[in-house]
Amino acid sequence: MTDTPPHDPRLDRYVRQWFFPALGREGQVRLLESQAVVCGCGALGSVVANTLARAGVGHLRIIDRDFLELNNLQRQVLYDEQDVADDLPKAISAANKLRRINSEIEIEPIVADVDATNVEQLCRDADVIVDGSDNFEIRFLLNDVSIKHGIPWIFGGCLGAEGQSVSILPGETPCLRCLFEEPPPAGSTPTCDTAGVLSPAINVIASIEALEAIKILSGHREAVRRTLLIVELWDFAIREVRLDALAQRGDCPTCGQGKFDWLSGNRASHSAVLCGRNAVQLSPPERQPIMLETMAKKLSPIGPVTHNRFLLRLRVDDYVLTLFPDGRAIIGGTEDIATARSVYAKYIGS
Ligand SMILES: [Zn+2]
Repeated sequence: MTDTPPHDPRLDRYVRQWFFPALGREGQVRLLESQAVVCGCGALGSVVANTLARAGVGHLRIIDRDFLELNNLQRQVLYDEQDVADDLPKAISAANKLRRINSEIEIEPIVADVDATNVEQLCRDADVIVDGSDNFEIRFLLNDVSIKHGIPWIFGGCLGAEGQSVSILPGETPCLRCLFEEPPPAGSTPTCDTAGVLSPAINVIASIEALEAIKILSGHREAVRRTLLIVELWDFAIREVRLDALAQRGDCPTCGQGKFDWLSGNRASHSAVLCGRNAVQLSPPERQPIMLETMAKKLSPIGPVTHNRFLLRLRVDDYVLTLFPDGRAIIGGTEDIATARSVYAKYIGS
């Protein structure tokens, strides 16, 4: 005679999921008690957060630095036209939507740019970190945190109709730096600007990222894929690159020698050209909280200003300046960092 576990009403809504034998009831209980960080809630992060919320991951921390624009809707499946009109940061819009999808889990939105000063605090209590970012600086930071604190993380990236993903289990698999010693130099690789990006490719990669996270969170590490996956969906080719040779190398500065160059801030930049946005983000090194309401009054003679609790927007000349309460700003209308800095200095202060 087998013992039937007592009925747990928390599990009812996920019954089609945990009836899948490899996941199981025990796996579902573990999911409910787990915590995931989704770093970036644009195209990949939208799909990942949506999938993990529906799957019943108990605590989801959604981190994003940006706000929504109409041209995001082509691929960022969590959002709709009303969200664009509401002019909220993506993390806040995402959390509002995810709470309507699943009110029984905890959703924690964070509007912030992930950098060396905050990444450990944001990620160290996670059971898994899932990459929804669009740049290698953040990915190398996540990799440092992952190796330092022994937290698995899932890398994913897409461009055109292509995508890549790899799952990194500290101590078991090669890390991101074993694969790519350095981030590609700025301007050396195509971007969404020059190559475009197709939503189905994002959905495929993000779904795979989410599934790998579900395996880890439900206690099924043995099922995690140990290869670099590369998909090319227009001409249709799917490849897996074996990483065994890398695993035996052992000379990786990060996972072999314990050097955390991104986490130590040695590699930090305080500005970034945002992929596909004709915009530059500036992060002042010393963060002083800004009262948006006071700033809105100060800026109102200069040009049209709007603000809410989360952001302020000023239109001036050919630029759109969006300011966050932590002093960070996104300057739209230029991809030139020096121009963006001078716009910021002129209106917000240096
Ligand atoms: Zn490594």
